[in-house]
Amino acid sequence: MRENQDCSICRRVSIWRGGRNPYFIHEFEHSIFIVGDHQFHRGYSLLLLKEHVRELHELEPSVQVALFQELMRAGRALVDAFNPWKMNYSCYGNLDPHIHWHLFPRYDTEPDHLNHPWLHASEFKEHLIDSEAARYLVERIKSNLVI
Ligand SMILES: [Zn+2]
Repeated sequence: MRENQDCSICRRVSIWRGGRNPYFIHEFEHSIFIVGDHQFHRGYSLLLLKEHVRELHELEPSVQVALFQELMRAGRALVDAFNPWKMNYSCYGNLDPHIHWHLFPRYDTEPDHLNHPWLHASEFKEHLIDSEAARYLVERIKSNLVI
């Protein structure tokens, strides 16, 4: 499995594998599902590819399909847990060139719900959660995850 010692996501994956973190939700075959460390958008979570790969198109077609199914199972769990108005999925990797998805449940009660979720990125740090809050969210998401 490809790994890069200089990659912050590879380091996070190695810590989170096996659930050694209160933010850990589930380990899929190709990815790790974790709750975000801020909750500006309630239920914000991430899906990290276990392997260090820069671009989605570089994955084997069978892995592309499997990863997408893992993403959909993660998204479904967030919808069932938080009943958002809409789901937003983003996959950029400009800062961390290692395939990962941000899963943003969106709510029509947000003032800018028609806009992209990064609009309020400067405020995310005001919504950091502690381990106890993370454990609560993880349990709620896990109980809605269909494995
Ligand atoms: Zn990496």
